[in-house]
Amino acid sequence: MNSEVKKSAFLSGILLVAFAATAEEALVRVNLADGGVRTERVALASVSPAQVRFTYPKERITDDAVSIDVVPDFMTAKKGDDGYWIDARGAYGRFEHESGVYENDRAGWMPIFGLKRGETLWYGQVMGWRCDYHFCAEAKDGRYEAFPRFMVKALRAYYPVYQDIVVDFRRLDGAAADYVGYAKAYRKYQFANAGIRMARDRAKTNPVTDYLLESFVIRISQHCRKQVLKDRTLRMTRANEQPLLVHMPFLICQDYAQQLHDAGVDKATFLSAGWTSGGYDGRYPDMFPVEPAIGGEAGFKAFAERCRDLGFQMSAEVDYTEMYGPADRFNLDLACRYANGQFPDGGFWPGGLAYNLCTKKALDLGWCQTDFARLRDVIGPGPLFFDVMSAIEPRRCGHPAHKVTSDEMGAVYSRLFELAQGAMGGAASECGFDLGIRHLDYVNYLWHEIGFWKSNRYKGFLSGVFPVWELVYHGVVFYTSDRWLQNHTYGNEDRSNGAFDFGWGVYDRKEDPEKALKIVEFGGRPILYTHTFGDIPSIVKAWREYKPVRHLQKEEMTGHREVAAGVFLTAYGDGSYTVCNYNRSSAIFDGNAIPALGYVLFNPDGTRKAFAFDSENGLCEGVTRLLCRVNEVKGGIMPRSRPVEDP
Ligand SMILES: [Zn+2]
Repeated sequence: MNSEVKKSAFLSGILLVAFAATAEEALVRVNLADGGVRTERVALASVSPAQVRFTYPKERITDDAVSIDVVPDFMTAKKGDDGYWIDARGAYGRFEHESGVYENDRAGWMPIFGLKRGETLWYGQVMGWRCDYHFCAEAKDGRYEAFPRFMVKALRAYYPVYQDIVVDFRRLDGAAADYVGYAKAYRKYQFANAGIRMARDRAKTNPVTDYLLESFVIRISQHCRKQVLKDRTLRMTRANEQPLLVHMPFLICQDYAQQLHDAGVDKATFLSAGWTSGGYDGRYPDMFPVEPAIGGEAGFKAFAERCRDLGFQMSAEVDYTEMYGPADRFNLDLACRYANGQFPDGGFWPGGLAYNLCTKKALDLGWCQTDFARLRDVIGPGPLFFDVMSAIEPRRCGHPAHKVTSDEMGAVYSRLFELAQGAMGGAASECGFDLGIRHLDYVNYLWHEIGFWKSNRYKGFLSGVFPVWELVYHGVVFYTSDRWLQNHTYGNEDRSNGAFDFGWGVYDRKEDPEKALKIVEFGGRPILYTHTFGDIPSIVKAWREYKPVRHLQKEEMTGHREVAAGVFLTAYGDGSYTVCNYNRSSAIFDGNAIPALGYVLFNPDGTRKAFAFDSENGLCEGVTRLLCRVNEVKGGIMPRSRPVEDP
């Protein structure tokens, strides 16, 4: 063999290897009704050098399928590998276990999930079945898989399979192959495809958004509502509904707003919940008349006017996902149904047994439009808050007269947000599900993952939570990062009196400095639910904590990393960054002391401010605890830091 032939054989060998490397395959596991599993291997189509596409035609989904797992070879790892699996919210697990399971049944916050192994991170973006899958991370005998599980049987309970399963997988390498690169890739996709804009840009023409940039949200948790009964079978009617418990009538709320104002809260967006007919969760989908027991329409109007006089913004909560027996609008023909005619479980709340209202019918009947216009007349502009909608995969409806797929229902929710933005100047909802994000101004909290991690719900299989959702949407939509952080200055809720009901929380006022720091580290804004004057000092404390960093709401979050054990840097588009220290001793970062249980805000002009936790004042400017050892440690762009003892 001469050298030319050798060279040619060598090249063809390379080509073969190169071709094999791009011909990726996925293991498809069809989980069957009898408990068995059928597997097949499906080739992934090459879209670009760093992107492949998985497609599973709907015709191929057999009748016996309960769910379908899609596991490309590159979404697997072994115990001991360097890296982690990661879900959409940023919950992640390192490859440290022989076995374990993490299954998120609300996977579609953002339709992405990933796996980092060594210098490469692959992530999937679910393009078809976007609302109908769980995210799973599993380890068996030290072998890890991260994959979407498409819920075939659950969907077929409502209607036939109507679309192909399509997942795009993209590869990130080198410096981009981490959770920040993963978030930035999706952020870029959303800016290009989802019509989202920075809040600061929307604020130029929208005073409601502009006010949100300066304020935080205080929710009157429930002006009034009925007691939740222990008997959870009763479908209430007007004849047997429970008496209203009145907590915060509008006239009292006027005093409440005045006291908050006088105590130093100068910018707040009030969210009135339970103003509706029959109180909170009482007679939905009836919103009007404004509940007479708390002052009726005239009282609501006067409360809104008082808020405006004090410089506050006013808003209110509505709900078009539930239907209760006592409602004038109650009509079982408008409830979501399974294909077999039965009703899905809607839970049991103050209004009794709840049915899932087909929200599309509420839109088609013009209820929402009428309600929004009337509410605007009563309380004026403010971001209208929709209970539930961004907290769930959009509800399916299999009613033969008004079948709605989850994708179509997502479009209905998004349309309601858009209508609210038109009528009220803004829209808000409960959590971080991003299908209608284009028309949302804020969400109350994302979900519970940080709390799950803190309570070790997954026995160590969940290693922590990265601020992935935050890296995508900071500067676009206002948020609090977790339910665990709600009411963070109140301390722990005390249910030792045996209360089984919700919303009347009594708190011990023993604060956790970690919560205050997590709000800063993750770039969120505090959110306070209140129903008592006793909360005012705690709300004032949260406001004082928030004001020094609220200007960062105008910026993109551009980076996040752990710079030393328990010390986290979060960077913003204007050049600002915060460094938060969760240790009980101070740390040195870039020559600056970061107080124990505190943080330093580094401004673009080179100035900085240090804050430390104090049980009386919360996270406050604490110069006395600041160590100034400037230039003690030199480093590169992001120098290393080390913990030091407090003096
Ligand atoms: Zn329907």
